[in-house]
Amino acid sequence: MPDPALAPAPTAAPVPEIADPATWTGRSAADVARGFLGVDYACPACGRRHAVSTRRLETRPGVARDLVPLLADLGLSGRPLVVFDANTRAAAGDALLAGLDPLAPATHVFRRDDLHADEAALGSLLAALAARPAFLVSCGSGTVTDIVRYVALQAGLPFVSYATAASVDGFASSVTPLIVDGFKRTYPGKAPLAILADPGVLAAAPRRMTAAGFGDVLGKVTALLDWRLARDLDGEAHCPTIDALVDKAVVECLALSGALARSEPSAVGTLLDVLALTGIAMQLMGTSRPASGAEHQVSHLLEMGDIRRHRPGSLHGDKVGLGTLAGMGLYLRLFGDGNLPAQRPTMPARVWESEVRRVFGPQADAVVANNPHEPLSGAAWDAQKRRLAAALDAYGHGIVQGYRTLLPAAAGMIEAIGGPVKPSQLGYSEQDARDAVGFGKEVNAAKLTVMRIAERFGLLYEFAEAAAADWPG
Ligand SMILES: [Zn+2]
Ligand SMILES: [Zn+2]
Repeated sequence: MPDPALAPAPTAAPVPEIADPATWTGRSAADVARGFLGVDYACPACGRRHAVSTRRLETRPGVARDLVPLLADLGLSGRPLVVFDANTRAAAGDALLAGLDPLAPATHVFRRDDLHADEAALGSLLAALAARPAFLVSCGSGTVTDIVRYVALQAGLPFVSYATAASVDGFASSVTPLIVDGFKRTYPGKAPLAILADPGVLAAAPRRMTAAGFGDVLGKVTALLDWRLARDLDGEAHCPTIDALVDKAVVECLALSGALARSEPSAVGTLLDVLALTGIAMQLMGTSRPASGAEHQVSHLLEMGDIRRHRPGSLHGDKVGLGTLAGMGLYLRLFGDGNLPAQRPTMPARVWESEVRRVFGPQADAVVANNPHEPLSGAAWDAQKRRLAAALDAYGHGIVQGYRTLLPAAAGMIEAIGGPVKPSQLGYSEQDARDAVGFGKEVNAAKLTVMRIAERFGLLYEFAEAAAADWPG
């Protein structure tokens, strides 16, 4: 199948001015990201086609009051179906429905305490489409938006996201994580036409949700280094412009941590913009790479364990924050002394398979089928090690040395905002923590991250052991 990101755009527009990072000086990352809304162009920096279907990102007080003209601007008219969970209905429903009143909105409220984007939730929203809405409005954060995004695609309906918490970076995503048969996988979805938020609503959300959003942004620290190494080790597609945009956003967000800890509405509004921005970066690239690496693999494995054991889930960004601390710790462990580590024996295939069966339980067959049973070795690994050494000399060692101060500082920022820095704070056992670091990479076999690199050096499982005893190892 041809790669859609490389296909010539039928209506390719000229390269927008904003695509040149030289125009970014003096502008915030969110402001730059707004310049990418609605673009569709062939990128001079990477040669790929970049398209963003989201057309508006408005984070301002009272945005709910101006909804009708704003929607008309986007070509939306007719009756919307507004989708809530019980909490978002209570927190933001009245203002949102008042703003939509001229359109006579229908509503659907998920009443479950353990709402997941799973078969039951999708089915209940499908049934609500009997109201024959012209478009959908999701009112919530991660889970509600993910459910709506999938149903909107399947039903061929446009949708708009009204964000109630700056807790997750998936708002602008065009893919959606769903839990089907207990296994979390990424499915196609639809990106919202607009992302709207009121900073006052965001700042009134529980503080731990803001901490989770901060953790999800922090994850880009390891995601970006993983992406650059995947480019240099495996020849994976990479765009320097998108990389630079996400990098700029992370730097700005780190500087906001004090104001976030005080729940200042303007800071929480900026956090939402940055979270939306990373979703826009994923749309531009057509993959999750700019926003998701080793830290997300740790998070996904913890979450899959929650689902299998019917534990109430914790926030995605909390687990991403934990994964980021572990990812930085692993980078330091591997390369902190300025060299490649010495090669150690790797895990034999039969041990690996029995570990996968223990960790993944009923999903193990699929994991065993989709992953290499032994790490890359021999001449192919030697060639990768040479490319790795060159990449570390060119930029990697500088970044990894920065983790010596960033790692403890980031943990302090998460704590100050009210998030967890140890898996035990979310109720995970040492075994859960060890397995998340050791076997998160198996959730997405094709994605090269620092976990996979450590496995090839024969150092991953020893690090996982250390991380379990004293996070981040
Ligand atoms: Zn590009
Ligand atoms: Zn995330």
